[in-house]
Amino acid sequence: MESTRKILIIDDNEANLFSLRKILERLGPVIHTATSGFEGLELSEKNHYSLVLLDIQMPEMDGFETLKRMRDSAKNKLVPVILISAIFTEDQYKIKGIETGAVDFIPKPVNPEILRAKIKVLLELEEHKEFLKTLVGELKTKNVQLKKEIKKRKKVEADLREAKAKAERTSELKSKILVNMSHEIRTPVNSILGFADLIANTSIPTADKERYVRYVSSSSQNLLFLIDEILDHSRIEAGEFSINMAPCRAGDILIELLESFNRIKSQFGKTDITISIHPPAQDLIFETDPQRLRQVLINLLSNALKYTKEGQIDFGCEINNDLIRFYVKDTGIGISAEEIEHIFSRFMRIESQDSLQSQGTGLGLSIAQKIIQMMGGEIGVESTFNKGSEFFFTLPYLPLDTLDKDLLAPVVESIEDPDWSDFSLVIAEDEEMNFLFLQEALKATNVKILWAKNGREAVDIALKEDPDLILMDVKMPDMNGFEAIRLIKDKKPGINIIIQTAFAKHDEELKKGSNLYEDVITKPINRSILIKTISRFLF
Ligand code: ADP
Repeated sequence: MESTRKILIIDDNEANLFSLRKILERLGPVIHTATSGFEGLELSEKNHYSLVLLDIQMPEMDGFETLKRMRDSAKNKLVPVILISAIFTEDQYKIKGIETGAVDFIPKPVNPEILRAKIKVLLELEEHKEFLKTLVGELKTKNVQLKKEIKKRKKVEADLREAKAKAERTSELKSKILVNMSHEIRTPVNSILGFADLIANTSIPTADKERYVRYVSSSSQNLLFLIDEILDHSRIEAGEFSINMAPCRAGDILIELLESFNRIKSQFGKTDITISIHPPAQDLIFETDPQRLRQVLINLLSNALKYTKEGQIDFGCEINNDLIRFYVKDTGIGISAEEIEHIFSRFMRIESQDSLQSQGTGLGLSIAQKIIQMMGGEIGVESTFNKGSEFFFTLPYLPLDTLDKDLLAPVVESIEDPDWSDFSLVIAEDEEMNFLFLQEALKATNVKILWAKNGREAVDIALKEDPDLILMDVKMPDMNGFEAIRLIKDKKPGINIIIQTAFAKHDEELKKGSNLYEDVITKPINRSILIKTISRFLF
């Protein structure tokens, strides 16, 4: 602190300068001296003084003028100045000095003790002033920091409030989804259980029984569709959704869908709706994932049928340069402009009292969009509220000129029952119901059936009985299907094995083991496809 104390003494008399320096040296400050007002002003601009001792009577510029100029300078406005004079000792000069901005007036000859005491006090005051200045500076910085901190906290608080609101919305949405899912699952299950119960009643007429069986079948289809949607959704979320490119005949798919949607339309009594293909289906053969294409079209057609009371549903496809454009257009309830931008979001369902809109998971369109994007296309919609909607999507058009017909997805058709009484086959299946279905489906062929309830039994029976074919389930207790296949093929590499599984055909596990089996049938198993597939191995 001592070294920061600087005193400037301005006096034209060298002897006075010397004696004042001597008096003040004991206080320990750095002392500068000037012999004129001009020199003093110059020094005071370059240095920071704690105190200035200023003689009044000087040639050229006296002490009053020097002091006035000091006060005019921004730098020295507040520096404490003590005036010293032997001549101007009357009160009027003291007053003039104080008015000009001096802090004290000391007459000559100077009493050293008094001068030292006064200067000591002034220096201490200056030090306190400096200290206060630093303190105020620090407080100002702290204040700025605090303001910043408050701003930051306010932002964090706002973010937290937003996150909380979002979490509440998500939780509310989850509950709504669960309630909706549970309703969606219960509806077909109730109908299956109810009608199955009625069918069990032996006294009801055959015609009613047949109707009930149709109800059970269509409710089961609904349930299956729902489960597929949920599975597809979780596969997409887990990044495990894959696309399998294969040759595809667009016309076949359109005609097949026209037939089945005409059937569904009648089942639901929607006879005031006409469904047609525009332009008429052409024989376009191109490469895409036919199953996924069919899935998206089924989804759009189901929605069109669901959200239309009467009028027209048109669908079809056209080539547009290197794109193939599919569309499904209806004269249904339409979608409002506000809702349309959210229509492809997951679990998005338009809230309405209309019973037409009371069923559905809100997953269909988001899955369709994902599928189309993965196949390299785009999906969109145009709609007018209360008039109708047109959903459309494009896919890359990769034409195929020559086509190996066998590569096309098998078309389901009814076939005559073959005679397999000379053959034996093992059904490896842990679920009794599934086994009973297969046994029933193959009954008319007279094939000899052996039942293995798990992978281990399948291995034992296959090695002991030497069957012609094995229908192998994948997911079984004790030993799974793949493990059993490996052990069997190790001993009997020539044996034919068909996998029957509820996994989608393109599941990774199936792909990995594809060199170990001859074919795959997916559950739920269609009887015609089952017989057609087995025929390739039993002849
Ligand atoms: P879901 O039909 O299972 O509710 P989707 O994802 O298929 O789910 O459809 C989301 C929503 O979009 C539906 O709930 C319905 O409100 C609306 N929507 C879809 N297709 C149509 C259509 N053709 N006409 C009117 N609204 C539709």
